[in-house]
Amino acid sequence: MKAKYITVVLAFSVFFTSCGLTGGNAVKPYEVEDLMMGTVITQRIYGENAELAAELVSERMKEIEERMTVNSPGGEINALNEAAGEKSVALSPDTFFVIEKALQFSQRSGGAFDITVEPLVKAWAVNTDNPRIPPREEIDRLKASIDFRDVLLYEDKSAAMLKNKGQAVDLGAIAKGYAGDEALRIYRENGIKSAYVNLGGNVVVLGSKPDGSPWKIGIQDPRGSIGEYMGIATVADKAVVTSGDYQRYFESNGTRYHHIIDPETGYPADSGLISATVITELSIDADALSTAAFVLGPKEGMELIGAMEGVEAIFITRDKKVHITPGLNESFKLNDESGEYQYAQEG
Ligand code: FAD
Ligand code: MG
Repeated sequence: MKAKYITVVLAFSVFFTSCGLTGGNAVKPYEVEDLMMGTVITQRIYGENAELAAELVSERMKEIEERMTVNSPGGEINALNEAAGEKSVALSPDTFFVIEKALQFSQRSGGAFDITVEPLVKAWAVNTDNPRIPPREEIDRLKASIDFRDVLLYEDKSAAMLKNKGQAVDLGAIAKGYAGDEALRIYRENGIKSAYVNLGGNVVVLGSKPDGSPWKIGIQDPRGSIGEYMGIATVADKAVVTSGDYQRYFESNGTRYHHIIDPETGYPADSGLISATVITELSIDADALSTAAFVLGPKEGMELIGAMEGVEAIFITRDKKVHITPGLNESFKLNDESGEYQYAQEG
């Protein structure tokens, strides 16, 4: 099999740098980039204390990574997975909270979002140098162990247990979202009023730009090169999180196999969407919902989003039709010079 692995070296949603004050007195942010959670994390912070806040955020993200990773040894999720079917494992409030949230989104999405998908993620190995198409019997066997209801949470002792041996969880679709919310909490605690953080495509902004205007966040063209945008969302105090099939995937015999697994089929989700962006206040919610919507597809994905207060979305289908929630009519603009992307005719 000829496999192509795309390493994530660039954040794919950037803010537009027109953040100067009138009179040409551009306010310069303090900027820092970290390589963590398998991606580039960029912080741009304005105002006093920016450097300190950036450092605290980097440390906090490292802590979250160490607790929640399944990509390197140690931490709480690896411990939970290793003890599957045997015993419960004590969790920090961080990890307990993220798992609890994940289970809520599993319920809401009817299981499209499911952190127990880990054995399938590992079998496909899309995020590694050796991705593969597992044989159907392997997929069927692993699929049988996927069930978010088997993650047992014990609030009184802040612990969790996986019901059966062989089950495992992967927080790859939600933990970066949590880290984004933690970054904003730390900025606020340090008196920061304006900041932008991008965790490999999960963008979170605090306040507005220093000149008081909202942030402009480019939405990656899912079939363009990195940094090419098909639209711009104008936001303040929001998370803008995209799940897509274009960043982590491999190709075999002309078929694209990406990293978001449909727990129902055991194969990479094939819902008709190639990109799902969710915009809302909490980035943990946006992260879980963008992955869930990507699995559900345009119709059920919009139903999921529409049922929630204050949540907006931009979906792109394989035929390059763009679906947006009514709340984005004013704040999202198509910006596609090729003219390939067009709004879907709703109704
Ligand atoms: P999202 O759509 O948000 O998430 C997709 C990911 O979620 C998949 O890659 C898979 O892990 C999981 N998933 C797949 N299907 C489902 C589903 N139906 N429901 C729920 N989850 C699903 N990557 C590396 O290459 N090296 C690392 O060292 C590394 N360390 C990491 C440490 C942490 C703590 C985290 C959170 C991630 C780490 N990653 C690492 C993973 C990498 O950053 C992931 O590709 C990323 O989390 C996926 O995010 P996304 O926004 O692209 O896609
Ligand atoms: Mg996600």
